[in-house]
Amino acid sequence: MSFERIREKLSILADAAKYDVSCASSGGKRNNPKKGLGNNTGMGICHSYTEDGRCVSLLKILLTNHCIYDCAYCITRKSNDIQRAAFKIQEVVDLTINFYRRNYIEGLFLSSGIFKNADFTMERLVEVAKKLRLEENFNGYIHLKSIPGASDELMREAGLYADRLSVNIEIPTKSGLKLLAPDKKHEDFIKPMQKVKEEIIQHRAEQKIIKSTPRYAPAGQSTQMIIGATGESDRDIMYSATFYYKKFNMRRVYYSGYIPVLEDSRLPAIDTEVPILRENRLYQTDWLLRFYGFSVEEILNDSHTHLDLDIDPKLSWALRNLHFFPIDINRADKRMLARVPGIGMQSVYKILEARKFRKLNWTHLKAIGIANNRAHYFITCDSKDFYSQELAPDEIKARILKNSNSKYKKYFNHQLRLF
Ligand code: SF4
Repeated sequence: MSFERIREKLSILADAAKYDVSCASSGGKRNNPKKGLGNNTGMGICHSYTEDGRCVSLLKILLTNHCIYDCAYCITRKSNDIQRAAFKIQEVVDLTINFYRRNYIEGLFLSSGIFKNADFTMERLVEVAKKLRLEENFNGYIHLKSIPGASDELMREAGLYADRLSVNIEIPTKSGLKLLAPDKKHEDFIKPMQKVKEEIIQHRAEQKIIKSTPRYAPAGQSTQMIIGATGESDRDIMYSATFYYKKFNMRRVYYSGYIPVLEDSRLPAIDTEVPILRENRLYQTDWLLRFYGFSVEEILNDSHTHLDLDIDPKLSWALRNLHFFPIDINRADKRMLARVPGIGMQSVYKILEARKFRKLNWTHLKAIGIANNRAHYFITCDSKDFYSQELAPDEIKARILKNSNSKYKKYFNHQLRLF
C-alpha cells in the first residue's frame, strides 16, 4: 500500500471521526501559506483525559466510514454520497506506533462505521487494540468506541486492552432514536453498557483479592448525545444523562450540538445555528448535578423545561429561589455554600477550612477567590452588608450581566438595555 493511499485514507477517516466530541479538536484544518510556525493538516490528532486526569494527544480515526445503517444525522450514513475508505487492522497498528515513536501522539481513539454487522466490526476494533498491547507492547492510552449490538464476549475482551470504552447513544430519547435511526434499537446501546459496567465491577472486586487480575477499562465508560437534532427539552436531556450516570456508572456524558450537514425532512434546516451555548449550559448543569449536589428537578422542571441561555444554571436557580438567601457565610452548611452563584466547590472547601480559625469578612472572601460581584447578592458576612433584599430577580440578573466578562454577552445585550 503506497504512502499516498494511506495518507488519503487518514484524511478521509480522521475527518469522519471529528463529529465525536469527546476529542473535539480533531479534523480541523489550518494552512500555513507564509512559512509560519506549524500547521494543522486535519489528520486527526486530538486531546483527551486519562484516568488520572492527564491531558493526552490521541490519533482519532475511524476504522472505516462504510456503514450499513442510515442514521439521519450522520455524515457517514449509507445513503450519503461521500468518499469511502477502510483501514486494514495492521495499518492502524502501524500508524499508531509510527506516530507514537515520532512523539505526535500518546494514544489512539478508534471508532468505526458498521460494516457487515456489529460483531464483525467490533472484532476488528478489538483486534487493533490487542495487537497494539500484545505484539507491539504499546502502553499508551486506547479509547475504543463500542459498536451498538456487539456481543458480550467481544465487550469483555475490548475492556482488557482499552483504557476507556464508549457507546454513543446519540439521540437522548427512544422516540427520537426511532425517528432518526430506525435501524437501531435502544437495547443495542444498553446491552454493551451493562456488560462494561458489570466487568468493571467484577474486575475491581477480583483485584482486591488477586493482585494479578488484569485491569478492565480503567478509565471507565462514556457516552455522547447529539443535542438539537430532535425536539427534546433540556429537562429530557438531563434526565436521560442522569439515568446513564446512575445506571451504568458513566464516567462522562458528552453533549454534542447537532451540526447540520445533510438535507433531510426529519432534521433541522441546514442553516440552523449550531447550539454551542446550549451545549455549554448542559455541561454546566451536568457539573452541578455531579459535584454540587443539585437534582435535575431543582434546575429543570414543569415550569422551567429549558435552561436559560443568558445566565448559567446555578445563577438561574438562585434567582428563582431567592427565599433561600441571603445565607450567612460564617454559618451556612456545605450544601448551601455550594449553591451560591460565584462560589465554586474549591472555594466552599476553603471557606469551611478558614471558618475553623476566624470569622470571615469580605476581605477574607476576596482572598479565597470567590466572585464577589455575583456572590454578594446572596450572602452576608455581617448583617449590615446585604442590600439586595429590595431587588427583584430581574434586577439582580441585569446588574450581574452588566459586569460580566462572558464571551456570550452578545446574547443578552438586549436585556441590559432594559435597566
Ligand atoms: S451506525 Fe454510526 S456510523 Fe453508521 S450511520 Fe449510524 S451513526 Fe453513522
